[in-house]
Amino acid sequence: MAKYIFVTGGVTSSLGKGIIAASLAKLLQARGLRVTIQKFDPYINVDPGTLNPYEHGECYVTEDGAETDLDLGHYERFLNIFTTQANNVTTGRIYQTVINKEREGAFLGKTVQVIPHITDEIKRRMLLLGKNNEYDVIITELGGTVGDIESLPFIEALRQLQWELPEEDTVVVHLTLIPYLKAAKELKTKPTQHSVKMLSQEGVHPDIIVCRTERPLSPDLRRKIALFCNVKAEAVIEAADAPTIYEVPLAMMREKLDLICMKKLNLKLTNEPDLHRWKEFLDKLKYPKSQVTIGLIGKYIELQDAYKSILEAFVHAGAINESKVQVVNVHSEFITEDNVAEKLANLDGLLVAPGFGHRGVEGKIIAVKYARENNLPFFGICLGMQMSVIEFARDVLNLKKAHSTEMDLNTPDPVIDLMEEQKKITAKGGTMRLGSYTCQTLEGSLARRIYGKEMITERHRHRWEFNNQYLTRFEEAGMVASGKNPESGLVEIVELPTHPFFIGVQYHPELKSTVENPHPIFVHFIKAAKEYADQKNAVKNPLLQSEMI
Ligand code: GLN
Repeated sequence: MAKYIFVTGGVTSSLGKGIIAASLAKLLQARGLRVTIQKFDPYINVDPGTLNPYEHGECYVTEDGAETDLDLGHYERFLNIFTTQANNVTTGRIYQTVINKEREGAFLGKTVQVIPHITDEIKRRMLLLGKNNEYDVIITELGGTVGDIESLPFIEALRQLQWELPEEDTVVVHLTLIPYLKAAKELKTKPTQHSVKMLSQEGVHPDIIVCRTERPLSPDLRRKIALFCNVKAEAVIEAADAPTIYEVPLAMMREKLDLICMKKLNLKLTNEPDLHRWKEFLDKLKYPKSQVTIGLIGKYIELQDAYKSILEAFVHAGAINESKVQVVNVHSEFITEDNVAEKLANLDGLLVAPGFGHRGVEGKIIAVKYARENNLPFFGICLGMQMSVIEFARDVLNLKKAHSTEMDLNTPDPVIDLMEEQKKITAKGGTMRLGSYTCQTLEGSLARRIYGKEMITERHRHRWEFNNQYLTRFEEAGMVASGKNPESGLVEIVELPTHPFFIGVQYHPELKSTVENPHPIFVHFIKAAKEYADQKNAVKNPLLQSEMI
């Protein structure tokens, strides 16, 4: 029988429920338990695939092609496991299932209602991952904040489950904020009291209160929270701001969050958690020996969450290279031929980000050209790869009007074109080329050196692709297709063998980078950036170079 931990949030959003859930999962996993995490989102979209990144941050894609909440990325990065469609459920999906059943006549003439039909479907999904004896513990993060109208059916389903399951099979962890009032020089517990009260009114009583706070919680304050919120004093957990999210599992271990959960769940205590690889990673992260500056060229740069997985992949790759990766956001809309050299002058590497639509693409193309001509390490992801193809077509193949048909339907040279199977698709939700596909790397290529093997699998999320009608011309002029889908022949990787490091990939490698398995392209990209930085310094400071010799 699997055990269930539920994580709810109070007072405000953005408290880091996903990180707390992932950290708790990490600790339980490090104690030898089989753990997975799922996220229930209260919005009515069926999935976040149709949401603008400004609304909801990055859309994370799983192996099985589900477009999901970015918290699933945290779960995979922390736990080094794969999640699936079943790990992310939205109100939209719940209603869609119930309404489809109603249309089939499955409710036998009954009136279909929030209770019991919607809550039954929520409960079914909450328990689903625990059915096949694959996991000992399922952690369910409930999106939204207690008190929201949208989250009510989820809280109600949780209330029912707490009654239906044995007492020792569920734990409710409530994450809340303890604000510090500068003027009063005091931490305030009232918002937490209110949010626990509201949760209790909805019938759910938390077992553990995790308090996000800028300042340490005194024993008195912990007692006060325990008293007013009706939990044991040891179940009031301090979650202070941490310098990186990767410190949080260790902070939660110090607070014994895992032990308190295990006690309530009646799980046998094993040895101390084995976190030695995690700690090794943290040490490298905290004490880097060098620094590189990477330009992230994108159009959603105002919102950090839009490129979450890319930023985290840099953290993993930086740590293994013992190098601090400073990411500089460069807005592609403001790059012109006149300012590109100045804007990119201080970089040691350039990453052109994924994206959709025509805004900012010309700036991206100008940035690629600069990287290609100046031997600056270049890494293009999805749209970034497509931009490198267009740039090469325009500047090297002299196809001045080359473009992607995503941006210019009438281009005479559609070097990036819609995939054949995409041409008849009109609906937007869940219809891209999604999920994991095999790619065969070319012997002797940079891609083969990076991956160290011929067959790889990577995750996709796009509609357009390299137009193979142009492939011979590209290869003759020096841009090589070093990775292809073995069945369809679709070009998945392009590179320039004459450049020290120039690679574009049609897929999203950032989605598979974890603390324990940093993604090899990111790792090699940072290595190339380090070499570039060393050379730059040597040229700037020849004296140092001769001293070193
Ligand atoms: N808009 C491009 C396409 O659909 C690239 C997508 C992406 O960068 N994820 O092919």
